[in-house]
Amino acid sequence: MADQLIRATAAEGGIRAVGVITTRIAEEARRRHKLSYVATAALGRTMSAGLLLASSMKRAESRVNIRIKGNGPLGGLLIDAGLDGTVRGYVDNPGVELPPNEQGKLDVGKAVGRDGYLYVVRDVGYGYPYSSTVELVSGEIGDDLTHYLATSEQTPSALILGVFVGAEGVTAAGGLLIQVLPKAARDETLVEILESRIAKLSGFTPLLQSGKSLPEIFQLLLGDMGLVILPDTHMVRFHCGCSFNRVLGALKMLGEEELQDMIDKDEGAEATCHFCGEVYHATSEELAKLIDDLRAESV
Ligand code: ZN
Repeated sequence: MADQLIRATAAEGGIRAVGVITTRIAEEARRRHKLSYVATAALGRTMSAGLLLASSMKRAESRVNIRIKGNGPLGGLLIDAGLDGTVRGYVDNPGVELPPNEQGKLDVGKAVGRDGYLYVVRDVGYGYPYSSTVELVSGEIGDDLTHYLATSEQTPSALILGVFVGAEGVTAAGGLLIQVLPKAARDETLVEILESRIAKLSGFTPLLQSGKSLPEIFQLLLGDMGLVILPDTHMVRFHCGCSFNRVLGALKMLGEEELQDMIDKDEGAEATCHFCGEVYHATSEELAKLIDDLRAESV
């Protein structure tokens, strides 16, 4: 199934559900950043979560940044996701590998670390981003973001994230966000029913791997609760807005002295985009042109 995002409602609009499949996105991130198994799982989970959080925003240019900084060997992790369905991200130490945890699963919690912070920045497109920070709960990312949604955004939510990665790469990845909206949150039985069903769900990637589609997964969870699947399917993809021109712009900011130094010592410059791993090369001629531009601007 192609990478996509689908929305649904239930309980007469009291429940909001969003599902996303990110198998190709996680695989592209794995290849671009040469991610280990556990780093693929950590970044893949966070990229799915970013797309799910961005999906409830209103203005087309809205974006969500999620930064996780724990005390584990993976270092920091950052993703940037938009309502337009694009997402990109990186981890500080992509090569870190750890033995599986007690359940035989990739030990994301240990790789991220259980002590640290989760930062979420929502940029609604007006130029005043809304940001919020919570302490990490487990470093497993799904728990940490659920805690964030409950405390910072005061919406009871269940967030299920999964990435299955084997020797041949990522074979299933995605996530599910189910939220009980304020008008229904007072209905405690509704919240309880939902919680028990989610607890029984055998995880997201096993369902995907058994061939279940997003509408079928929604049906399993909310089929008898007035489920309405919204008709539009949104495509999602790994995308970075970096370009050679932007790299030149960044190099120019270094100033004449530094640029001349690069020409003399390195005969050019090489820059790697943190977010997507793309490598850009600027020749001595291109650097010399930047120096000319700087001189022309300072006259
Ligand atoms: Zn890039």
